[in-house]
Amino acid sequence: MKVVVLAGGVGGSRFLLGMRAELRNTHPDAELTAIVNTGDDLWLAGLRITPDLDTILYTLAGINDTERGWGRVGETERVSTELAAWGIGHSWFTLGDLDLAASIARSSWLREGVPLHEVVERLQARWPLGLRMLPATDDEVETHVRVEGRTMHFQEWWTRYRASLPAVAFEQLGVESSTPAPGVIAALESADVIVLAPSNPVVSIGTILGIPGLRDALRASTAPVVGVSPIIGGSVVRGMADSCLTTIGVETDAAAVARHYGSRHSSSSGILDGWLVDTADEAATEPLTAEGIATRAVPLWMRDEPMSAAIAAAALELAQQLARDADAD
Ligand code: GDP
Ligand code: CA
Repeated sequence: MKVVVLAGGVGGSRFLLGMRAELRNTHPDAELTAIVNTGDDLWLAGLRITPDLDTILYTLAGINDTERGWGRVGETERVSTELAAWGIGHSWFTLGDLDLAASIARSSWLREGVPLHEVVERLQARWPLGLRMLPATDDEVETHVRVEGRTMHFQEWWTRYRASLPAVAFEQLGVESSTPAPGVIAALESADVIVLAPSNPVVSIGTILGIPGLRDALRASTAPVVGVSPIIGGSVVRGMADSCLTTIGVETDAAAVARHYGSRHSSSSGILDGWLVDTADEAATEPLTAEGIATRAVPLWMRDEPMSAAIAAAALELAQQLARDADAD
């Protein structure tokens, strides 16, 4: 069985931990591929930083700092402290020494002309992740945020201002001329199940879907597409994704996010066949199912790996049921 997951950083990596555990248990021969958001990537002190790819790399390798919530465990910050003394970098974006080493390796390969997907392959070769990570695109397509009077990189808006400056719009600079990274469309075409992780619908999943050809490949896939709601009981669980949703005019609500992704069958641009909401949002299951998005309610809090695995199991079960229903038609 081939399972493809579209993912951002924190929500994406927690979900992937669960999917990997579930597949090891029930489908040991399964192939798991993650198509990862690259819109948060930025150049900093001459280095290419790829936050979502690194979060997944470190989390799945088991070397992430679970207390801080980002970066590698057992970090020191000698290099960042030294850089700050020279006025290099941003005070609001500190990277640990081991994290910087990964970025130096990545940037060095990129400068030699190695495309990002191959750089990612080299980085992940170091640890047995149990899945294949693919950047959504090899091209530099960065998310920028338009606020009153100016535009800034998403990372500055998110990390420096904690998403507190009212955003007017999100822009993917250079997206029109970008293409999906090699392997991305092929993975979607040959998938048996496609899952949207409970990631930020705007700046993680939305950014991936913005790359020309990606949405069409999802819509054309023969595999069922099941999404997991990142919203529980009208709030975002972790992080500040509500401010992103507000900007694009979508309510912070599990059903509203499902309608934003849309039904693959009853809308001309929709991508979902199925949707998982938390038991707190059970009331959404009937109306969404009637609108062409088969919806089930299961606990969606990813507090630990077994809880994430149970969510992955529910997504696979819904997908398999949708595939059976499609065969019967
Ligand atoms: P980022 O790139 O680090 O911002 O991470 P993602 O885009 O992958 O995921 C962020 C989103 O994950 C947040 O907006 C939350 O809504 C969602 N999220 C975080 N933890 C949980 C959880 O335990 N359960 C669910 N359902 N969603 C979660
Ligand atoms: Ca991110």
